[in-house]
Amino acid sequence: VSATALDELEAEARARFEAAERELSAIRLARSTDNADDEHDPEGSTLSSDWSRAVGMRDDARTRLAEIDAARERVAAGSYGICERCGRPIPAARLEVRPTATTCVACAR
Ligand SMILES: [Zn+2]
Repeated sequence: VSATALDELEAEARARFEAAERELSAIRLARSTDNADDEHDPEGSTLSSDWSRAVGMRDDARTRLAEIDAARERVAAGSYGICERCGRPIPAARLEVRPTATTCVACAR
């Protein structure tokens, strides 16, 4: 993998993480300025489904960032592209699609 490919992935994941954080702050703000009883607030359920979607997006992005970090460590350690289950090389085509893959296709199943 090239460092550039990981940088691009990281920038993308970071942008998604930040977008999710912004959305969460906006929802938090909307909740705190809203004095209505949550249970009778028709917007309450919308807020909470937006909230869980944004939390999901933030957690996905965080996982991606951790995977990218781990991929960088493997590059540094010289173990990048080696399946961590069977020790065989991960096919280049798979790494192109998933640069953070840690296992070959067979082991991923
Ligand atoms: Zn394998």
